[in-house]
Amino acid sequence: MKIPVEILRSVFGYDSFRQNQKEIIEHALADQDALVIMPTGGGKSICFQIPALIKEHTTLVISPLIALMKDQVENLRSNGVNAAYYNSSLTESSRNFIRQQALSGELKLLYLSPETLLGGIDWIKSMNISMMAIDEAHCVSMWGHDFRPEYQQIGEIRKYFPNIPYLAFTATADKVTRKDIAEKLSLRNPTTFISSFDRPNLSLAVRPQVPKKQKVKEVVQFINERNGESGIIYCLSKKETEAWAAELNEYGIHSRYYHAGMGSAERDEIQEGFINDEFQVICATIAFGMGIDKPNIRWVIHNNLPKNVEGYYQEIGRAGRDGLPADTILYYNYRDVVLLNDFVAESNFKEVYHEKINRMLKYAEASTCRRRILLAYFGEHLLENCGNCDICLDPPEFIDGQVIAQKALSAIVRANERLGLNILINVLRGGKTIEIIERGLDKIKTYGAGKEFSFKDWQHFINQLIDQGVIEIAYDQHMHLKVSELGHAVLRNEQSVQLTEFKERELKKKEEKKTGSVNSELYNILKDWRKELAVQNSVPAYVIFNDATLGSLATVQPTTIEQLHQISGLGKVKIDRFGKDLIEIILSKGTPKISTYEATFQLYSQGMNVEEIAISRQLSAQTILNHLIKLYEEGKKVDLYQFITEYELQEIKAVRSKLKNTHQLKPIHEATNGQYSYEKISVALALLNKHISA
Ligand code: ADP
Ligand code: ZN
Repeated sequence: MKIPVEILRSVFGYDSFRQNQKEIIEHALADQDALVIMPTGGGKSICFQIPALIKEHTTLVISPLIALMKDQVENLRSNGVNAAYYNSSLTESSRNFIRQQALSGELKLLYLSPETLLGGIDWIKSMNISMMAIDEAHCVSMWGHDFRPEYQQIGEIRKYFPNIPYLAFTATADKVTRKDIAEKLSLRNPTTFISSFDRPNLSLAVRPQVPKKQKVKEVVQFINERNGESGIIYCLSKKETEAWAAELNEYGIHSRYYHAGMGSAERDEIQEGFINDEFQVICATIAFGMGIDKPNIRWVIHNNLPKNVEGYYQEIGRAGRDGLPADTILYYNYRDVVLLNDFVAESNFKEVYHEKINRMLKYAEASTCRRRILLAYFGEHLLENCGNCDICLDPPEFIDGQVIAQKALSAIVRANERLGLNILINVLRGGKTIEIIERGLDKIKTYGAGKEFSFKDWQHFINQLIDQGVIEIAYDQHMHLKVSELGHAVLRNEQSVQLTEFKERELKKKEEKKTGSVNSELYNILKDWRKELAVQNSVPAYVIFNDATLGSLATVQPTTIEQLHQISGLGKVKIDRFGKDLIEIILSKGTPKISTYEATFQLYSQGMNVEEIAISRQLSAQTILNHLIKLYEEGKKVDLYQFITEYELQEIKAVRSKLKNTHQLKPIHEATNGQYSYEKISVALALLNKHISA
């Protein structure tokens, strides 16, 4: 039987399994059911693709996302795997063709939408099926966030395939949904595999209360620092997506918008364009992203507070799927909270939704490591701070906030709890706005009691007092501030308060590529070459290979087939297809650490013969022989006598001396009636010259 890790290497070109992948594959090979919970980008596909390749018959893969099916199938094909998809997007004749292929048993994987599985059950029943893999399995559950009724029937048709394993995959973590999936899909005694949800390559940053103008400035700068790299800006409203796209385009950043108000053809076109790097930025509502498998999204920005932590994590999780560093920023202000609460006000699950919004807000307002908070939400506990969030990178320093808090609280009390945030600050700072004068707020005792702090300082303090539950916002009463019970305890000095001082946090600068040895010129050349190839083959660029692979190519600069095998993401089929071109580009455009002659000499020294070296280097045998001759002439230890007999050498020597010891090959070739090839003559000349000069 084929060994999983060998397939991982030879077909997919990866070195080692990620967490749980090996166990899941072995489990599937033992024909056991499983429920697999892995974060987006965790590497679910390989968990069913490798057993599918090992098993004798066809594996059915059920996926609700037509766009994603196509990508996965193209990816598999580019790795030399016989796979197909069957769904409503195909013409009748392609469907017939695939049906035939499926029935003849030549497919290793067949991707189906749940509708086509149910609709086609009559012919699918007569296929030889090894295994059923169900992607996005949470769609079966009403508790999940993307319920699809057709999914429920997948469990019912199990009666037709009683003896094959069912593997269900989802990135949804919560327990109710998990249990529901196992039941509704009729999983038999499933083992549950839960991978860590940690995505350490995603940086996390939150920017509270940034005024619109400044936000645009920041975002434009942020994008400009990431020259040409793809990213998403998530917005709450359709209007905002359009406004952002227009704004960015004005700054010369190629952007498009995407929301549910657009026709489906247009949405598909935009999605496709984004996948194919036709433009850099997509400004979208959360309608965008479900079917997106683009591994090289390098950043995600939220323009507003998301409505729950699950959604937020999934959205930022779309960045950096290739494992390379990616950056995320969340902008929010209190208006977002009001809007979100309004959205859910009519819902039957209002309380649940409010609580979820609240948890999201708590995350945004945190003053401890954000990743720890995020993972704790999913039931996972990091033992150390992450070092890759804004808090870790610039930890706040705490001061005694008792008096500061009391000044704010007493102003609120004296104004009968009828102050909004901005006016409270103006009162504390002794401002003379019309409203203050008209309402007589300049007469209260704490008027001007906080002059020593700037407006921003106060904003920062009061936000913290809100986070800590000392002050509450009455969202339903014009956002007026109220003193909580805890706040009264603070006023009575029964409770102490710690605050952090306001710090103008810098947005994290783009991380310089750490290796320092990536040849960026070569990187761009390879990227253009990949793009061209992608267009020719009408596949997304990452199907050729992803950015991580591109990066290693530009760093390692392999110049032999052996060395190409060391690059992660290049399996055998891809090396067969592109190896020669890659080596050629690297030799001509790169700065490989070794010259082409040295590369040949290394292989020669390992005992390879000319033909073997030629295959490994994807060069002609003639070229390799020329390398060896040159190496010999440079004094390297190369045995040229293996290419010529003593008799031949002497004959060429004799002919040559008649030709006045010429250095040219042609006259010798002709004088011997073409009996000796040019290669042989070159070898002879090299040997003869050496003797003369010696
Ligand atoms: P998911 O479906 O869980 O969101 P994918 O299966 O699309 O994730 O995998 C995400 C990315 O990680 C893909 O580019 C995939 O090729 C890559 N990947 C998966 N497993 C490995 C591995 N063992 N080593 C390196 N890369 C991997
Ligand atoms: Zn952190």
